[in-house]
Amino acid sequence: MKHKSSLQLTVIALIIAGFFYENPYFIYIILGIVTAYVISLICGSGLIQLNYFVDSINKSSKDGIAITFDDGPDPQFTPQVLDILAKENVKAAFFVIGHKIEANKELLKRIHDEGHTIGNHSFSHTKKLTTSTTTLLREDFLKCSNSIKSVINKDPKFFRPPYGVTNPRYKRAIMALSLKSIGWSVRSLDTKTNAPNQLKSRILKKIFNGSILLFHDTQQVTVETLPDIIQHCKNNGINIVSLPELIDQKAYGQ
Ligand SMILES: [Zn+2]
Repeated sequence: MKHKSSLQLTVIALIIAGFFYENPYFIYIILGIVTAYVISLICGSGLIQLNYFVDSINKSSKDGIAITFDDGPDPQFTPQVLDILAKENVKAAFFVIGHKIEANKELLKRIHDEGHTIGNHSFSHTKKLTTSTTTLLREDFLKCSNSIKSVINKDPKFFRPPYGVTNPRYKRAIMALSLKSIGWSVRSLDTKTNAPNQLKSRILKKIFNGSILLFHDTQQVTVETLPDIIQHCKNNGINIVSLPELIDQKAYGQ
């Protein structure tokens, strides 16, 4: 359900509840309706798959899966990820943090030159973004796009909200910049574990055709697990395709 629909439902429920104002449980009815609305706001803001505030692409109806990495470019781990992808002949998408680009321009160029997709993951990637105004969000996202463009000479159109958090201001900023929000259907949680086997067993049972996998090219455990994930897909006839191909969208503008 979208935010607008849940707001309309809440208003209708409050109006109907108003007819029962003489009921001894009136206050509890009102509290119940308001609580349900607040819970829907919290879930809608934190769970990108709900498409509550922002329409995100979280999976595809096409065959194949796409692998995505957030939070790079990282001088230690991104090159190792790129080496694995090159060896396995797999194309992935990298949602990069703008402020990391200046010190890692050659690495960003390498990602692009090796045929991977580069997307915008905000410039600052701070938790503060969740409470920022539309203007500040727009400036932050644009700064990231411009940093990417200054290195690869292409304007990224894919955007992944940091922490998967969205709200109405994100929607306005994303629309103003003509960005396309990209979520995921399989969250590896590779930032929460150091155990490759644990990570592997969690991910493998969730991979189906159409899946978009979320990893971070900032983790040793990701580097250690990635070859097995790719091998599992190859053994099970699951094609790993590029993100633009899986979702049938252009990754770059003019
Ligand atoms: Zn991130």
